[in-house]
Amino acid sequence: MEHQRNLGGASGDTFFSNLRAFFVLLAREGAGLYRTVQTGLSYLFSTAESKKIVTELYPDPLSSRTPDELPPRSRGFLENDILRCTGCGDCAAVCPAACISLSVEPGPKPGKLWVSGFDIDHSKCLFCGICVEACLPASLTHSRKYERASGDVLALSTSFGRGPISVEMKEKWRQQREAEEEDAVR
Ligand code: SF4
Ligand code: SF4
Repeated sequence: MEHQRNLGGASGDTFFSNLRAFFVLLAREGAGLYRTVQTGLSYLFSTAESKKIVTELYPDPLSSRTPDELPPRSRGFLENDILRCTGCGDCAAVCPAACISLSVEPGPKPGKLWVSGFDIDHSKCLFCGICVEACLPASLTHSRKYERASGDVLALSTSFGRGPISVEMKEKWRQQREAEEEDAVR
């Protein structure tokens, strides 16, 4: 019997603490709702002069805002300085959204890759910046551009690649290498 009384007391305590938590929540939410309604009503019935503009037109034809006014570490669309890019693929390897794809070929100099294709699908990009952190040559950066709304998802992809290597380019590089080797022998 003693054991049963203890149990009853514990469930009673739980009931009252739940009830108290309920009323605390009700009071807090009620106060928030009251403030919201009060703000809305005061704005609704205030005079035109006292009404503050709380929204902005977008795009705003009169806005003087420039990208320079963005926070210093803001992350806009990605850009790749492809001449600096080594084609290492670290950025694509760490991207959690798999939105970077690249293709490389042997370049004009031994050990140097030619980045023929480098595409970023900004429709999938999270703008997390992990790829930029991973890019040791710092060729990949966030620009300060952020306006690019489009109804065409393909238009949100950006290509930075240098294009495929043509037969003429290969021949020119071969001749350059031969000339350099001859110079080295002399
Ligand atoms: S910012 Fe993030 S999601 Fe976008 S390409 Fe870089 S790693 Fe991928
Ligand atoms: S990590 Fe940098 S250097 Fe390497 S492929 Fe990506 S953009 Fe190019």
